[in-house]
Amino acid sequence: MDCLLMSNLDKKKLGDIFEASPLKGQHALITGGSRGIGAAISNALAALGADISLIARDKTSLQIQGDYLKSKFEANISLASADVTVEKEIIKSFKTSVNTNGPVSILVNNAGIGKSMPFHKMDLDFWKKTLDLNLTGTFLCTQQVYQDMRERGYGRIINISSTVGLRGYPYIAAYTASKHAVIGLTRTLALEAVKKGITVNAICPGYTETDLVSEAIENIAKTSGRDKENIKTEIKNMSPMGRLVTPEEVAESAAWLCLPSSASITGQAIVVAGGSVM
Ligand code: NDP
Repeated sequence: MDCLLMSNLDKKKLGDIFEASPLKGQHALITGGSRGIGAAISNALAALGADISLIARDKTSLQIQGDYLKSKFEANISLASADVTVEKEIIKSFKTSVNTNGPVSILVNNAGIGKSMPFHKMDLDFWKKTLDLNLTGTFLCTQQVYQDMRERGYGRIINISSTVGLRGYPYIAAYTASKHAVIGLTRTLALEAVKKGITVNAICPGYTETDLVSEAIENIAKTSGRDKENIKTEIKNMSPMGRLVTPEEVAESAAWLCLPSSASITGQAIVVAGGSVM
């Protein structure tokens, strides 16, 4: 077996196998790419040679992450401030990105919120805000690139779902419903797109060290009067590995899905959660 592997290796140059910039010439657009998981994904894809477009609302954090990408990876960068729940803003920001970096070959639907609320207190406005961003935002952004990917015969679409997309958790009915739906959308689109060279996958992180989790801890502390450190320890202990996931660990999975060699991986919901969900 070892000999067979070696002879196959001999046939290729090592340089080809460990290609330093396998995403060179590709344009990766990441929604919510200014902070947290989205920013880590933009770093990972830029490190593999992709040009990067970031979309988020706050211009200052976009600029900070854009400057970092430019200085560290020398990537071409497009920054567009837009709310991913507003179709007009999505259309405009995608046009800006395409004008700067060319057609989108990698779309990462990452912008999302995960607020908690007991179901008996949840109103329609709360429900809609979560679904509008996590689910309809994913749909609208995918629409912006899908036809072009079909025509060009290539694309990578990655939807950031969550472990809450695979099982129920109390007090987050809207979040859980939205992330389950994102996985449904992923699986269906994967089947529709597969013959066109487009893969569509979901990544399902567990609790990850970002502002989203810090805000959730603040919220629980405010409503329960409990100590923030205790709440954080409790969240860490919900994972068999006893810690939060890092944004970089989630980003590595996204980067792997974007590699040319991942062409046969589609319709999957890949869990990055230290064994929390199996
Ligand atoms: P953060 O809150 O750290 O970052 C969210 C990003 O999305 C920011 O760039 C934010 O920028 C942007 N964003 C938020 N709302 C909008 C909007 N309406 N339009 C455009 N951009 C928006 O979140 P995370 O990095 O933690 O989460 C990223 C994704 O990962 C989400 O989909 C989340 O559900 C998912 N996830 C997170 C987990 C976690 O534990 N952290 C676990 C599982 C999944 P701005 O506010 O400037 O718009």
